[in-house]
Amino acid sequence: MASPRPFPSQKATESYWRSSTLPIDTHRSSEDLPVHADVVIIGAGYCGASIAHHLVTESERQGREVPSIVILEARQACSGATGRNGGHLKPDPYLRAARVLETHGKEVAEHVAAFEARQVQDVQDLVQSSAFDCDFEETMVSDVCLDEAGGRNTGNSLSKVVAAGISTAQVVERSTGPEAERISGVRGAKTCLKYKAARLWPYRLVCQMLEACVSQGVNLQTMTPVTSVVPQGDGQGWKVTTPRGSMTASKVVHATNGYSSGLLPELRDRIVPVRGICARLAGKGPHPPISDSYMLRFNDFEYDYLVPRPDGSIVVGGGRRDYFKSLDAWFDVDDDSTLIEPARHYFDGYMQRHFVGWEDADVRTDRVWTGIMGYSWDGFPYVGEVPARPGSYVCAGFTGHGMPQIFHSAKHVALLLLNGRVEKEHAVPVPYQTDAARWNSTQEHSSLALWRSVTGTPKCAASCEERGE
Ligand SMILES: Cc1cc2nc3c(=O)[nH]c(=O)nc-3n(C[C@H](O)[C@H](O)[C@H](O)COP(=O)(O)OP(=O)(O)OC[C@H]3O[C@@H](n4cnc5c(N)ncnc54)[C@H](O)[C@@H]3O)c2cc1C
Repeated sequence: MASPRPFPSQKATESYWRSSTLPIDTHRSSEDLPVHADVVIIGAGYCGASIAHHLVTESERQGREVPSIVILEARQACSGATGRNGGHLKPDPYLRAARVLETHGKEVAEHVAAFEARQVQDVQDLVQSSAFDCDFEETMVSDVCLDEAGGRNTGNSLSKVVAAGISTAQVVERSTGPEAERISGVRGAKTCLKYKAARLWPYRLVCQMLEACVSQGVNLQTMTPVTSVVPQGDGQGWKVTTPRGSMTASKVVHATNGYSSGLLPELRDRIVPVRGICARLAGKGPHPPISDSYMLRFNDFEYDYLVPRPDGSIVVGGGRRDYFKSLDAWFDVDDDSTLIEPARHYFDGYMQRHFVGWEDADVRTDRVWTGIMGYSWDGFPYVGEVPARPGSYVCAGFTGHGMPQIFHSAKHVALLLLNGRVEKEHAVPVPYQTDAARWNSTQEHSSLALWRSVTGTPKCAASCEERGE
């Protein structure tokens, strides 16, 4: 279980993406911390790097001086969830939108879906214009349901958003029955939805973004955990403390995802560290080629995601089937130095089990690793100013689905920092906002509620004793 205040563990399992690191991994732009910065960003994952990127590029676009920026990172650059994920940049064209349609209506549902969809193109543009070497590839996704009920549910969600005119849903192709198995190549597929996404090497993308920022004057300090952020005595800005000393900042951004409540304790139970597991599979034929990325859904909450790599290997994550019921193995866990034990062997024989024609392939588990995600209680990230803490911002809680949300969430925060406001076209969707009602909500965390309903555990029997409730 996480300590009451989650922090990155000192050691971590080694992910495939981080198996060969880049020079910026342990970079420190100066021997000592600067005395002061206009903006301190805490966390050097995709989010922290994207905020720095937008601060630099937006300042230049607006013809103004780039503010002084310091990034403080507890471990190595991109050593958190971004350096340990599935490498899938997969916008959700229908499921989330169907939920938001019910709660917020059509305009917000369209915003939620389109906000994710346009990040594929914009990240591709960035990768191409900056010549980043990160294996970025556009791909089709085969989003497969292996159970009849799940197939019906996803079909109903899709029909709902298509009927409502949600733009991203119009291009999703659905097949059912034997056609689903033929099209997807997944044994026992009941339905298959096809739509566009992308895949990439996330560690390399983020490190190259950081390199570009550093070359523009951003000061990056790795291996520098922030232990406290407190208002300065005169009420102007923040004092940021690390084991290497303190510095002051006019504005502070928490890009700390699963660890956010370590420094913002009021986010405890609002953004909870959740441990996930991934593997790389490698080997040789005989097997048919696969080019799509995949979602394999076994029911509403047990699913895997899979991307084929240019070198013929496969990165696959998920494995909840083997550990979901063991709450202590994944919920409120901030330690990525060990595996999720019940799922250690989940990926062995994965392709042979699920893919037609792969039965005799000599493909084995090459590596397994874990990472810490930030699951928010309602499934949406918190993006904006921290209530009652002027000059303090948060961009976190991406709930295992950050790759298609972070780039533009970071732009929202960068614009707030620079201009004090965000025009409608760049704003995050309403459910992401940090208003006091959402910030202070006492509703049960949706992952805990789901776990209770699956295991038949009554409310409060699970964790209340420990939490003193
Ligand atoms: C196993 C796994 C598989 C996943 N697969 C996918 C996928 O395929 N597609 C997808 O969209 N999403 C996936 N995700 C989720 C995705 O990786 C995250 O949503 C995203 O990377 C979050 O980026 P971030 O920058 O907000 O957080 P992180 O990458 O976690 O970065 C936060 C950084 O903050 C640092 N930090 C925290 N506290 C402090 C402190 N006190 N002082 C200094 N530094 C601090 C951490 O060390 C870390 O480097 C997966 C996650 C995991 C763990």
